[in-house]
Amino acid sequence: MSEDLFERVIRGEVPADVVFQDETTFAFRDIRPQARVHVLVVPRQRYRNLAELAAGDPQLLSDVVATARRVAELEGILESGYRVVFNTDADAGQTVFHVHAHVLGGEPLGFFGAHEG
Ligand code: AMP
Repeated sequence: MSEDLFERVIRGEVPADVVFQDETTFAFRDIRPQARVHVLVVPRQRYRNLAELAAGDPQLLSDVVATARRVAELEGILESGYRVVFNTDADAGQTVFHVHAHVLGGEPLGFFGAHEG
């Protein structure tokens, strides 16, 4: 998958169902939803993954998390609950290397990880 796919989404070059945007972040529906609500939140400025964002710009990470909350509010799942996931590198299955939070909810979510526990 292209390195700069989400930059192209943010620029409007790739169509997306936009849920929310502000000065620093951009949120749009995942093209392959894994729950009734599945929205991706990306910082406009590209960092490769969560580790680089946390080290490089903690305020921007905070903005991403605040937007995840705002998305949950807009989607009506603030009270029912939701999961925020940052897949980071190979074992987590990260495929787009522009850091993004998955916001999932709208129904009870299954276990996560490799084992049912
Ligand atoms: P990850 O595996 O954590 O890197 O997540 C990448 C996510 O981007 C996957 O859930 C894909 O379904 C999603 N995705 C890929 N291309 C698009 C697109 N053009 N619009 C919306 N979501 C996309």
